[in-house]
Amino acid sequence: MSFDSDGKGFVESEKPKETFEDVAGLEEVKKKIRLNFILPLQQPELFKAYGREAGGSLLLFGPPGCGKTFLARAVAGEIDASFVHIELQAILSMWSGQSENNLHDIFEKARENKPCIIFIDELDAMGGSRNQMRQHHDRMLVNQLLLELDGIREQNEQVFVIGATNTPWYLDSALRRPGRFNHLVFVPPPEETERETILKLKLEGKPVHSLELARIARETKHFSGADLEQIVKDAVEAAMERMLNSGNLEPITQDDLKRAAKSRKATTLEWFSTAKNYATFSDANQDYRIVLDYMKATGLKL
Ligand code: ATP
Repeated sequence: MSFDSDGKGFVESEKPKETFEDVAGLEEVKKKIRLNFILPLQQPELFKAYGREAGGSLLLFGPPGCGKTFLARAVAGEIDASFVHIELQAILSMWSGQSENNLHDIFEKARENKPCIIFIDELDAMGGSRNQMRQHHDRMLVNQLLLELDGIREQNEQVFVIGATNTPWYLDSALRRPGRFNHLVFVPPPEETERETILKLKLEGKPVHSLELARIARETKHFSGADLEQIVKDAVEAAMERMLNSGNLEPITQDDLKRAAKSRKATTLEWFSTAKNYATFSDANQDYRIVLDYMKATGLKL
């Protein structure tokens, strides 16, 4: 199934093969998603007894590159659901003026292909512009999204909506009301053992020479999954440069990884600095308390 519009084809549905097993760590997050999303779908009778039904929405937030998209795909893989990835920025800019209709079409098609997960990336793209015209369109799109979310809640259609944002504090408050994106889930950077697993995953199948990934994991505190991916890319490039010089297949060495790690900084730090401000000074509902707790537990001082 494909939700092409005007032949541009950037809203497509697929069946992801990844499952939770491919997502390193994030055990608390997985547990929350299992309880709220996956089990109700697999054992609806059991959950009905508690007045709960399958379907609903969830908002993932956290620093960039820490696996929100990856996780959302894995949820689809877990329940063998179709997965539609919506990039709001693209909808807004390419379908200006008729973006609400297109959003509705996407939800309609998802209903026809249930179970389905609609993943809305960059939720913060809505309402971010100061331009009057843009604001008007944004407002219409937010309204349409509210309608769709409410529709899902009422009709229990096994359509799940997972939103993702790096800046939940900018989100239109109407989107955060009960039954909409009121379920906030913090996706933190990977812990040491998770970093080791991610490095291992990213190096899989590549030529390597006696690596001690635990060491690199130890030296990359607060690095995101995407940062680690970049380190592996840098190390691969160093090995390939040697290959060009020697003409032989040169393995990736511990030194390549170490150098790459040293030359990069954790991109999550800037995010934590902003999040800390919101959590400290404008968090009436204590939504971001979890961020402060996380910073305390991991000794992250900014
Ligand atoms: P953004 O906020 O920039 O959209 P994101 O939080 O959606 O980022 P992803 O795109 O899901 O992050 O992750 C970035 C990369 O890091 C992916 O290629 C993914 O493979 C890897 N990655 C992140 N976290 C994990 C994890 N826990 N296990 C395995 N890989 C991970």
